[in-house]
Amino acid sequence: MITRLPRDYVIYSFSKLHQAKYTAVPGDIVVFETVDALGGQIVDEATTLDSIDWNRVNPATGPLYVEGAKPGDTLIVEIEDIRISDRAVIVVAPGFGALPDRKIKPMVKMLKVEGRRVLFNDVEIEARPMVGVIGVAPEDGELPTGTSGHHGGNMDVALLTAGSRVYLPVFTEGALLAIGDIHVVQADGEICVAAAEASGEVIVKLELVKGKRPRYPVIETGDRYSIIAFGRDLDEAAYRASEEAVLILMRALSVSFEEAYMLSSLVVDLRINQVVDPMKGVRAEIPKNYVKLEHILTQLS
Ligand code: CA
Ligand code: CA
Repeated sequence: MITRLPRDYVIYSFSKLHQAKYTAVPGDIVVFETVDALGGQIVDEATTLDSIDWNRVNPATGPLYVEGAKPGDTLIVEIEDIRISDRAVIVVAPGFGALPDRKIKPMVKMLKVEGRRVLFNDVEIEARPMVGVIGVAPEDGELPTGTSGHHGGNMDVALLTAGSRVYLPVFTEGALLAIGDIHVVQADGEICVAAAEASGEVIVKLELVKGKRPRYPVIETGDRYSIIAFGRDLDEAAYRASEEAVLILMRALSVSFEEAYMLSSLVVDLRINQVVDPMKGVRAEIPKNYVKLEHILTQLS
């Protein structure tokens, strides 16, 4: 069955307390119509950043109640397709991004999207559509859709393209999935704080794994699993990504912590997701040669 969530059905926080109007069952295809991270408020380069309503930024379409999902399970979100519009927007403002101390003026730039390419002035960039926000209700409290954590959220990982699969830990009945923040293209780091922000549609297929879940969101792409860690700074995020990768290698290869620690130096790639959100993001990429999904998803103790 295909369920469609309209673009005006949005949340600005992830919470167990939200009521879901839409439901799906594992195996379903779900279309999330999404509005860009600026709430679709920037329509041309004359729109100034101080004219927009900041309560309407980072909308995520949802929540969706997934039948059968219970705390301790894993929700698998397979991205089937990302449909983008013919234009995107990027912004900079003082105090934001990797260089917040620079005295810059706020600036809005519209980018033309032509098929598989994005035009920045006359610079051609290959479009690589991805989703910034994919998350479920967190274990505790209410988290803004602009931040990330164990529940996913604003992960801003360039790997979240069509064909990738996200494994999210379920903390509440129905999981309460929400998706938003399409980027037509984003490089690792998302240096200036924004990417090529666009509205569009994200088409996903949902699956459940019962009774096991990952400690952090995990993204499966061609030949690897990426552990999506987060932290108040990159050191903390890198620590968590490394620690989780070592623990997974221990289980996968039945070796001591010391040996798994050594191996991680040889086979695990640490990469930066973004340095600009409230929680900075680092991922540990582990090739499938060394681990299976069963070593990543564990039973609740
Ligand atoms: Ca964004
Ligand atoms: Ca984002």
